[in-house]
Amino acid sequence: MIPYGRQDINEDDIQSVISVLKSDFLTQGPMVPKFEKRVTDYCGVAHAFAMNSATSALHVACKALELSEGDWLWTTPISFVASSNCALYCGAKVDFVDIDPGTFNLSVDRLKKKLIQAKATNKLPKVVIPVHLCGQPCDMEEIFALSKEYGFKIIEDASHAIGAKYKNSQIGDCQYSHITVFSFHPVKIITTAEGGMACTNDPELARKIELLRSHGITRNPELMSKAPDGPWYYEQVDLGYNYRMTDLQAALGVTQFPRLDTFIERRQEIACKYDDAFKGLPLTAQNRPNDRYSSLHLYVIRLKNLPKSRTHISAFEFLRENGVGVNLHYIPIYRQPYYQQFGYNPDAFPEAEKYYSEAISLPMFPALSEEQHQNVIQIIRQLYQS
Ligand SMILES: *Cc1c(COP(=O)(O)O)cnc(C)c1O
Repeated sequence: MIPYGRQDINEDDIQSVISVLKSDFLTQGPMVPKFEKRVTDYCGVAHAFAMNSATSALHVACKALELSEGDWLWTTPISFVASSNCALYCGAKVDFVDIDPGTFNLSVDRLKKKLIQAKATNKLPKVVIPVHLCGQPCDMEEIFALSKEYGFKIIEDASHAIGAKYKNSQIGDCQYSHITVFSFHPVKIITTAEGGMACTNDPELARKIELLRSHGITRNPELMSKAPDGPWYYEQVDLGYNYRMTDLQAALGVTQFPRLDTFIERRQEIACKYDDAFKGLPLTAQNRPNDRYSSLHLYVIRLKNLPKSRTHISAFEFLRENGVGVNLHYIPIYRQPYYQQFGYNPDAFPEAEKYYSEAISLPMFPALSEEQHQNVIQIIRQLYQS
């Protein structure tokens, strides 16, 4: 089976992890700050904090923005559940903004309309999380302008989008947001096995994120409430977590990092070939506007006008039976059983519902061979020949 995504590990990566194993520090050594420096330099952002996952980074980001009980967080329904679970961890309420049928990202038009309604009923969100689905940046300029008008904060869920660009901005520079979060799970663009990162330019948010990542404990006398009792002294000044990344993981990130741009170039090549091969078929791929550069974590197509003998489900099965490890990103979050208690009405999200009935993620990863690629294309064509 050709998987939909796969990590790329080379000899440098292996040696890098081994060298940490042989060193004095498996965690809280020099590799985490080194990896963070790679990210701040590359993205052009003031602060980056490595964590054990993007899920942890999203939680800490919400906490740093003081999201709490009674507050609302809005995001897109077409994302991984972590994009909205972070609100629930904080006791806040979640609502969803329907997607744009072309970019599959949160629709700015829907967001505007929903904000107008929410203002009238005093239910404006405290935080909005745009998700750069498949690595395709959302309409950040417009969302940022709305954040000023309506007073919400923005966390970019850039779990798919390290290396992506939006207009003159690198995703992660936080030009249009308060905090940006990356994931380094093995299917993502670069990996640390498990791992995530929270980036910000705001020194106060940076201070909070750093504390929350590690038990709310500080060893910096300037942040303490009392004079140190002695050289051993530390203070817990907030209720934090242990969300730290290990040095083993960071070491992998450090050697993956120099290959980031070439990984994305390869993904772009694969996507362009898919685009060309599917011209003339009634399926649609994600729009990729000229003013942004997708990191192409995923290549999603929407199967339209399938032959009478085929359904979305049977097409999915046909692809898997023929060795194409397709997937579906994502089940609308409001459809999850855990979310039923909050009483969402699927009719409120017609575009997400339609997307869910048509979407399929095709194999997309740097090491996809020409033969595998042609294979996938042939089998997609066959879908329409019955
Ligand atoms: C993968 C992913 C996450 C969670 O990432 P982890 O590092 O696995 O916690 C969050 N949001 C989106 C959109 C993702 O794809």
